[in-house]
Amino acid sequence: MFNAIKRFFGNGEFDCDDVVNHSSAYIDNDLKPDLRSAFQPHLSKCGPCQTFVGTLSSTIVALGKLPGISAPSALKQSLVDRIRWENSSLLWRSRSSGY
Ligand SMILES: [Zn+2]
Repeated sequence: MFNAIKRFFGNGEFDCDDVVNHSSAYIDNDLKPDLRSAFQPHLSKCGPCQTFVGTLSSTIVALGKLPGISAPSALKQSLVDRIRWENSSLLWRSRSSGY
């Protein structure tokens, strides 16, 4: 029951939920160095999270190219929620494959 928690504290890396929660800051280069060093190892080996971060990142970049629009954090958060919902089955599958 506490395997996920144990795993998190055991290797100091993020799980999929952590990546999703911090992806906006990561894309903005706003992540603290210790969080970034926990974020990147997970991202490098997790396909669904790479897809998630890639989708969010390209959406934010596309928004940033529109004249007069800089994506406010509330908008980014709703993007995160939406993309997370669209990817939830994918993330769930990857997370449960380890059991
Ligand atoms: Zn992941």
